[in-house]
Amino acid sequence: RPAAPPPPRTGPALPGVRHIVAVASGKGGVGKSTTACNLALALSAQGLKVGLLDADIYGPSVPKLFGLSGKPKVIEERLLAPMEGYGIKVMSIGFLIEAETAMIWRGPMVQSAITQMLREVAWGDLDILVVDMPPGTGDAQLTMAQATPLSGAVIVSTPQDLALIDARRGVTMFRKVSVPILGVIENMATFVCPNCGHASHIFGHGGARDEAARLEVPFLGEIPLNMTIRESSDAGRPVVAVDPDGPQARVYRDIAAKLW
Ligand code: ADP
Repeated sequence: RPAAPPPPRTGPALPGVRHIVAVASGKGGVGKSTTACNLALALSAQGLKVGLLDADIYGPSVPKLFGLSGKPKVIEERLLAPMEGYGIKVMSIGFLIEAETAMIWRGPMVQSAITQMLREVAWGDLDILVVDMPPGTGDAQLTMAQATPLSGAVIVSTPQDLALIDARRGVTMFRKVSVPILGVIENMATFVCPNCGHASHIFGHGGARDEAARLEVPFLGEIPLNMTIRESSDAGRPVVAVDPDGPQARVYRDIAAKLW
């Protein structure tokens, strides 16, 4: 008979923060950070008070995605003031270490870095703290899932088999620690040629939707593979922030509306 799942071991809630939602992926490069940023902005556009924690300690990209640099100020009692971008409070390990520092983290360091960014930052009053998780299903992910009560996790995947296998691992991991899966997002789904309008499915299509059905978790939507999304991210001006009513932003806003 399979062993009963262990009881959830979670740290105390963050005072003032009503919900913490993890954006995760089984592997890197599937667009998890881009999705986390734009979803955070879309939730903020719904009138919610939103924070964004970049817990991707191996490759923090939120500072660049938000066009933010500099060091957070230390305010009372060793607390760090979060940075602010497009109306969202942002904290990232990228603000705290040099960009060139090789990030070779040992388990306990991962744990303390994540715990500090959660608990030693003056997040203030937030409806939702969106957490851009490190990719994968190792120590850092488990630490995050257990450091504080997560309201749920969103899994980002491309339609490819390899990404989907890893996405499945992500779902299994969160289930093990009793974190509800809010749903799966298929990123880089369809590419519409800007010249001729032809739609192609460069990484395949529908795989994440099928996988969500198989895992019995909600499917939240498809995000196209789109030049504007990539260019605006690279420029530090996420598409939802600069063109909130444009077609690309709509995709993120529709997904955010399903979450909250
Ligand atoms: P991850 O956090 O999973 O490693 P990123 O969010 O850093 O992935 O995305 C990887 C690259 O893909 C970035 O250059 C990003 O701009 C680009 N990208 C992500 N999503 C899309 C999309 N829907 N369309 C076009 N480019 C995208």
